[in-house]
Amino acid sequence: MRVRPFFLLAALALLAAGTTASTASASHAWGNYHWARTANPFTVPLGDNVSNTAYSNWDGALAGASADWTASSVLNSPVVTGTAGNPRRCNATNGRIEVCNTTYGYNGWLGLAQIWTTGGHIVKASAKMNDTYFNSTRYNYTAERHVMCQEIGHGYGLGHQDESGADLNTCMDYADALDNPSPNAHDYQQLETIYAHTDSSSTVSSVAAAQLPENASPIATQRLDTIRTSSIVEDFGHGFRIYTHITWALEGLGKP
Ligand SMILES: [Zn+2]
Ligand SMILES: [Zn+2]
Repeated sequence: MRVRPFFLLAALALLAAGTTASTASASHAWGNYHWARTANPFTVPLGDNVSNTAYSNWDGALAGASADWTASSVLNSPVVTGTAGNPRRCNATNGRIEVCNTTYGYNGWLGLAQIWTTGGHIVKASAKMNDTYFNSTRYNYTAERHVMCQEIGHGYGLGHQDESGADLNTCMDYADALDNPSPNAHDYQQLETIYAHTDSSSTVSSVAAAQLPENASPIATQRLDTIRTSSIVEDFGHGFRIYTHITWALEGLGKP
């Protein structure tokens, strides 16, 4: 066990049977998953369900991530009023990334990103920050921004640039210090690669997106856990899947 914080992040070796070329054109895409849209730049807003705590400035971190991702030439990520309801559930809504914080418990994760896909296209996403760990002087504002930026980046289809612990000066890395509040140039290039094509339909409009049936149960769930990676894939059939990405707080497995 290491003394200073280190984090296990999910690699998302996507187990998507039937999905081709999952890593063909992108070096750190999250699989090949992306929002469908007919033109760039597209807008997928960030639903604001966050509230500041005595330890964390989540409103600031959300505003920072919004500005950072909007700096991409292919997308806009404005902050809008959240529709997630109880942040513990953080219900996702088609066409949006809902962002939430609350005390999710000593479950080992600092941040958790989920995307819902149908036919390989993202239809909705959520990003959760776990105050159970952030309610500590261990994590400063830069660490809050690093995790917020990364979980939202996953919502746009990005994976990690690196998982070795090396500091690549991007929030999409695995730097032990969590000292990178923003993306770097490579993240913006990666987004341009992911979104270089256009689609004939759109999932960025909530009207157009297909709905996962209420109370659907996965017909298959796969989870991979290794030292540095963790991923969960739930397959609901009919082309519906949920992918979960976890930022682990290893030191939190014992005590905060
Ligand atoms: Zn991550
Ligand atoms: Zn597409």
